[in-house]
Amino acid sequence: MALTGLEIYKQLPRTNCKECGFPTCLAFAMKMAAGQVPLDACPHVSEEAKQALESASRPPIQLVEIGSGDVEIKIGNETQLYRHEEKFHRPTALAVRVSDTLDDAAISERAEAIGRLVFERVGTRIGVNLVAVDNESGDADRFVQAARLASEKSSLPGVLMSASAGNLNRAAEALAGHRPLLYISEAAEAEAAASVAKDNNCPLAVRAADLEALAELTGKITSAGVEQIVLDPGTRGLKPTLEALTRIRRLSLKGFRQLGYPTIAFTSATDPTMQAVEASTFVAKYAGVVVTDAIEKWQILPILTTRQDIYTDPQKPVAVEPKLNTVGEVDAESPVLVTTNFSLSYYSVEGEVEASRVPAYILSVDTEGTSVLTAWASDKFNAESISQALKKSGVEENISHRKLIIPGLVAVLSAGIEDESGWSVQIGPKEASGLPSYLKNQ
Ligand code: SF4
Repeated sequence: MALTGLEIYKQLPRTNCKECGFPTCLAFAMKMAAGQVPLDACPHVSEEAKQALESASRPPIQLVEIGSGDVEIKIGNETQLYRHEEKFHRPTALAVRVSDTLDDAAISERAEAIGRLVFERVGTRIGVNLVAVDNESGDADRFVQAARLASEKSSLPGVLMSASAGNLNRAAEALAGHRPLLYISEAAEAEAAASVAKDNNCPLAVRAADLEALAELTGKITSAGVEQIVLDPGTRGLKPTLEALTRIRRLSLKGFRQLGYPTIAFTSATDPTMQAVEASTFVAKYAGVVVTDAIEKWQILPILTTRQDIYTDPQKPVAVEPKLNTVGEVDAESPVLVTTNFSLSYYSVEGEVEASRVPAYILSVDTEGTSVLTAWASDKFNAESISQALKKSGVEENISHRKLIIPGLVAVLSAGIEDESGWSVQIGPKEASGLPSYLKNQ
């Protein structure tokens, strides 16, 4: 039986340290009783309390771990349908497919390219997480060789995909210790694949014709001793897959245990743009793993950008440290620009200054992580806050001029800043993209 908020509260440290994001332990306990936050959001809960709270802390969606060591990925354990209720915690793992029908050289080349699909966006490294080896050949030896090559050349954890439990066993044994996700595409082989997953200590993804069949299958797999399951609703194409992923999420959050597992979705479009569109949609709507043939940077970056946006906390602006930053080899003549400490604003400015190749100072003012216009409208980015940040930064000691470039969107602040700081203000472009030509021409 589910525990009440007060019963949970009694097991918590009751220090009200706020590290879980809630103001008090009682508030946390109430949310947990409502199934809206997992127990592991409190880093201070004791082992005894964990055991006592086991039933209440069991997540509506099972946590599944893929890979091992530094590259281990966790999916599932989500508690909400809408991210404004509670942030989504475990980002979708993106997998790029490699067929074992390719020859060794082509597999190596593709796997290396997959391993290089890493980007830096708003100060964070984002990349492809998994290499999915597809046993299209149906041959066990070929599958083993492809799995070995893909793992070695990409340095990523694997998804091993086959219609044969026997072939999965061979490949899982070849990657012993790497803990790949085993994907069995043939429902009739699912129970045999469960034995393989149990013997090799791997999570198992299963496919069935519809959700009823899938729910029946998960019962059999858990009876075989495998708890870490990933669900493929069997749909292909954008609309049916989106519908199935949404139904699984809704049902699992309502407590339907047989579907309380993360999901796996496959892009099936042949058009390269649609591959990226499908993958991004599945990322936005609940897929735990997305497998795609997309491999071009222009396809992967929008998918990863969608993921980064969906999995940030909408209640907490993403901020950079408010401070004086430098780009390039600055000297006493280098220009000084000001922006807010909203990470997207800051990194947009920094990226464009880098592109201009004009060494410059960028002062990020503390606006609690809000963008230029939002901060201006809420009076956090004003003549006083900018002047104070200028003074505190100490930039005056490094330069021979007193000229400040402000965003064109807040040109109205120029007179106030000049009065407050004694600096002369220059109005920069309204968009960061205008900075390279602005800096070169000034
Ligand atoms: S992190 Fe744990 S101890 Fe701290 S307030 Fe939250 S529930 Fe209480």
